[in-house]
Amino acid sequence: MRYYSTRNKAEGVSFARAALTGLAPDGGLFVPEVIPPYPESVRSSLGTMDFHDIAFETVKPYVHGEIPDPVLEDMVHAAYPFAAPLVPVGDRLVLELFHGPTAAFKDFGARFMARAFAYLRRGEEKPLHILVATSGDTGGAVAAGFYGVEGIGVTVLYPKGRVSPLQERQIAGLGGNIKAVAVEGSFDDCQRLVKTAFSDQDLQKKQALSSANSINISRLIPQSIYYAAAAGKALAGKTDLPHEGSPWASPGAAASPRTWAFKPGQPITFCVPSGNFGNLTAGLYAMKMGAPIRGFIAATNVNKTVPDYLASGLYQPRPSQATISNAMDVGAPSNFERMIAQWSLEELQRILQGVWVSDEATRRIIQQVHHTQGYFLDPHTAVAWQGFDQLRGSAPSCTDPVGILATAHPAKFAEIVEPLTGPVPVPVSLKQVMERKPLAQIIPVDISALLEVLC
Ligand SMILES: *Cc1c(COP(=O)(O)O)cnc(C)c1O
Repeated sequence: MRYYSTRNKAEGVSFARAALTGLAPDGGLFVPEVIPPYPESVRSSLGTMDFHDIAFETVKPYVHGEIPDPVLEDMVHAAYPFAAPLVPVGDRLVLELFHGPTAAFKDFGARFMARAFAYLRRGEEKPLHILVATSGDTGGAVAAGFYGVEGIGVTVLYPKGRVSPLQERQIAGLGGNIKAVAVEGSFDDCQRLVKTAFSDQDLQKKQALSSANSINISRLIPQSIYYAAAAGKALAGKTDLPHEGSPWASPGAAASPRTWAFKPGQPITFCVPSGNFGNLTAGLYAMKMGAPIRGFIAATNVNKTVPDYLASGLYQPRPSQATISNAMDVGAPSNFERMIAQWSLEELQRILQGVWVSDEATRRIIQQVHHTQGYFLDPHTAVAWQGFDQLRGSAPSCTDPVGILATAHPAKFAEIVEPLTGPVPVPVSLKQVMERKPLAQIIPVDISALLEVLC
């Protein structure tokens, strides 16, 4: 498979090149030359296939000729020792994407990317050094994804005192090949320091540097896997049993009889809480590959650049506004460029409905779903749940399956959820994180201080 920049269709590069460079040299994003359809034998068996087999079949055509099948097979098993259960809650299905080590869906992209990088760089002498700036969530997923991966070191910069205690432990509690740097400044300062380090000639000579941000194609593609798996199950009329670590108020709540049943044979509509639109773009890829998906609802918080675009046809990026679903506080979504490079506005309007949700409505729905269903929503998942309610008039009726993507475990955002619901059950993975001791080097906003840490 060749990959092209969204800004230049002339020069293709390999998967390895696209993954290891991240951003195209012209500032565009890498996209595959085609989105490969599933073979019919795979497409028709998505409802019965094992998750790892779906993972293998989904990623295979994108890395063909660069990652041998047996290596890819091992890679998807090593990346995903956890499940993505599709669980009925009230009148809809919740796709729980928070059973990985950082309790958020970014584990799916980050853990595959880490293993792909390690393989693609086998035999290289210079160790690869990955530099990331984070406002909280991405750093944890990248750190956990690369932890223990040979030949790769990671340095995560985060604004000192501005991430939650849990996030700090996810970033700075690992040690080993993960170095944490607490910057006495803002997230923007961290980003600026990383950019400056990338342009430092001396550093470039000494080390192979790479970034691992959310625009990386090797993070995007594996996110299609759970869409295909869930769409296959829904079409077959199947759901999963509540999982260890599912956020039910009591074991009884999950087991209570459900009055709602959806008809098998209907394609699912996914409701996706969106910020940078990587998750949603991966859903579009899964649909184009042939997974049985009716369409998508793109739910945002007040940072509603894309819902506005779908309504008006005008793309107007703007500065981001702070909300309680802060992983979606994005005013200029980076994956938008990928979406419009591969789908026309008319196509997007056919497949995608946009909706935005206020903080007030987000809080209200967390409280209501806890009260009526005994299920805890995190603020991001709540935006998707509420977004579907707001559109219900024009959205498919509930006899058709509707899947809410649950992008984070509510315990990750306990400071927002618990005042609305009371104590949230904490999954084992997060309990273990809280026991770690964060160890970070503290530096001022000064490039020479960073370069000293890096050399
Ligand atoms: C990153 C993130 C999102 C937004 O995903 P995008 O791919 O950026 O649209 C939603 N919810 C949570 C919990 C996240 O961490």
